[in-house]
Amino acid sequence: MRVVIAGGAGFLGSHLADAYAAEGHDVVIVDDLSSGSLANISQLLAAGHEFCEADVSKEVPVEGHVDLVFNLASPASPPFYLERPLETLAVGSEGTRRLLELAEQSGARFVHASTSEVYGDPTVHPQPESYWGNVNPVGPRSVYDEAKRFAEALTVAYGQQRNVRVGLVRIFNTYGPRLDPGDGRVVSNFVRQALAGEPLTVYGTGEQTRSLCYVSDLVDGLMKMAASTERGPINLGNPDERTMLELAALVLEVTGSSSNIAFAPLPTDDPTRRCPDITLATELLSWKPTVSLRDGLMHLVEYFSSESLTKE
Ligand code: UDP
Repeated sequence: MRVVIAGGAGFLGSHLADAYAAEGHDVVIVDDLSSGSLANISQLLAAGHEFCEADVSKEVPVEGHVDLVFNLASPASPPFYLERPLETLAVGSEGTRRLLELAEQSGARFVHASTSEVYGDPTVHPQPESYWGNVNPVGPRSVYDEAKRFAEALTVAYGQQRNVRVGLVRIFNTYGPRLDPGDGRVVSNFVRQALAGEPLTVYGTGEQTRSLCYVSDLVDGLMKMAASTERGPINLGNPDERTMLELAALVLEVTGSSSNIAFAPLPTDDPTRRCPDITLATELLSWKPTVSLRDGLMHLVEYFSSESLTKE
């Protein structure tokens, strides 16, 4: 297959690209490198896979037949999308439309990476796909949440009106090697801070929860979705729910760090609880995560340690 991955130089996209390349497929990475990096895909470029540097909200310069299109193009870390609200809205709307058109031209399967953020600050717990969410449409996070919700609507409409073979997945918090240590997300911050002997910044009381999935599990779920004919939406995430205080304690344990905890203000509209109901993924895709949080964090610690060694 010839597989287009928009956002393929990013954390998740580059792992997905590696997995398709390892199965012998040709990968075309489209990325504007605004949050992704060439370092994540140098091994793919060396092996002859294609790279188009482009902002998909402006153009998708991919020529020729394609079999599969993934839309992973978007800033995903809250500090990143809060810094670029208009670009985030543009990539979710116009970027998604251009990629759907590309899929339509080739009769390709289209998989859209949506997000647990479509559930906002959920009032139903854990979150099944049938839950419509609780999003503040004018809050700071709305630029990401509403762009992703619009992208879901657009994807469904292209499936219905233009017969594009679409699939929607809703991705919950994911972590692993190639996370940008400076992306401001909780796992990046805690591991970086613990390794540097700095205080771990817990926002609010630290009683809010997230459910963290290791990247190889998530990639496996994305590939199973692509290979299926399911339209979704289907949640992909690890239901192992933890408070941020529990996560901080585990990071301290895994790193052997003696850092303290420093409490900081809770960001506006920060979701209180988040945990995927993965019944659909299990039944329809025979998928479930296999990597424990402790093991996954150990891999990330190794990666962050080797990254800082190479930078010194
Ligand atoms: N968080 C934290 N300390 C940090 C960064 C984030 O306590 O240094 C909290 C944040 O308030 C949220 C959770 O960790 O409750 C996850 O935040 P993240 O930015 O990773 O992603 P989100 O799930 O909010 O999109």
